[in-house]
Amino acid sequence: MARIVMKFGGTSMAGIERIRHVAATVGREAERGNQVAVVVSAMAGETDRLVQLCREAASLYDPREYDVVVASGEQVTSGLLAITLQGMGFNARSYMGWQLPIRASGHAAALIDHIEADVLERVFEQGGIAVIPGFQGVTAEGDVATLGRGGSDTSAVALAAAMKADRCDIYTDVDGVYTTDPRIVPRARKLALVTYEEMLELASVGAKVLQTRSVGLAMRYNMPLQVLSSFEDKPGTLIVGDDAIEDSHMERNVITGIAHDKNEAMITLTGLPDVPGTVAAIFSPLAAANVNVDMIVQSVPVRGDTSGLTFTVPRAALAHSVAEIEKVREKVGFHAIQTDTNIVKVSAVGVGMRSNAGIAATMFQTLADRGINILAITTSEIKVSVLIPEEYTELAVRVLHTAYGLDTDAAAEEAE
Ligand code: ASP
Ligand code: MG
Repeated sequence: MARIVMKFGGTSMAGIERIRHVAATVGREAERGNQVAVVVSAMAGETDRLVQLCREAASLYDPREYDVVVASGEQVTSGLLAITLQGMGFNARSYMGWQLPIRASGHAAALIDHIEADVLERVFEQGGIAVIPGFQGVTAEGDVATLGRGGSDTSAVALAAAMKADRCDIYTDVDGVYTTDPRIVPRARKLALVTYEEMLELASVGAKVLQTRSVGLAMRYNMPLQVLSSFEDKPGTLIVGDDAIEDSHMERNVITGIAHDKNEAMITLTGLPDVPGTVAAIFSPLAAANVNVDMIVQSVPVRGDTSGLTFTVPRAALAHSVAEIEKVREKVGFHAIQTDTNIVKVSAVGVGMRSNAGIAATMFQTLADRGINILAITTSEIKVSVLIPEEYTELAVRVLHTAYGLDTDAAAEEAE
């Protein structure tokens, strides 16, 4: 017997026919003798529709009331799934966030503080199935709160941790996590195993399967996550800690995946005075304005000369960042400011990098062979990222995928 949380996304819950299919999947796990809590999303498109209604009602709406409106999508799907399960003869019941309760702070992007698992223990004792709306909690004042878009993944992981589940299965409309975007590289392969850290890096550089916050939470509680398709019955991707990988996958590829992110913009400052405090004078106002600076490259001045500084910020924050820098122009005394949005960040991610040299060199050589110019570089213990012109996105992802040996076996054989 295992204790499991099963989470179903919006596409899986879109309509009675699909909810019936979900109920059958849930029923199968229960019939195997497992203790099951189900976390559901609203029907696909429903949360967008509800958000839009709030906007139409007033452009500056009260977050408390926004939560009252947008939390309703999950209430509907929870009830419908419980009804469907009951119709199939299962002892199923829905429990809203305030009924467990799922205690949370804030509105519109609330944080979960604590989940009581007592109600669930009683449900399991009686052989029941609990259905819980994702995305919602209750504040200390007793108000309904929502966790931010995509928050049902976080609800599922938090619930799994609270009820000490053996694992948390995330059923979605893709069948797992891939070595790269299969729309760019048809030879991408589905990964059997990814570590939490790799998943965090892949998600933060654009591979969106799970809400990043949920992966961080799973890592903290060492909760095994499984991403799998709700439409096809085949193995998905298991997301686990480093320790679980080392034992069973000694020969695992050094690089796990290639990700790309088109959400960055590059800012270049020239003619900066070569004196202490220059860089601080530029980045402090950006930090104060809550701008997340990512890659930073500074050129070393030849004696007595000025230096240059290149860095990236989220595209959405570009105009704002330039305005902040212009404010300190006189104080800092640089010559010019240039911006570029036709760029992409391409990253190779893998825990195997820790014990292997030459990963970055392979990346630079592979791109050089294709005449792709690198504008900036950053590295972490398990990631190498380069900034390149956006027009080379597909080519760079494809050649790196091949260079790191990630193509499917069939594709690799063909190339031989
Ligand atoms: N329904 C919510 C959203 O679309 C939460 C979720 O599905 O994860 O953001
Ligand atoms: Mg989602």
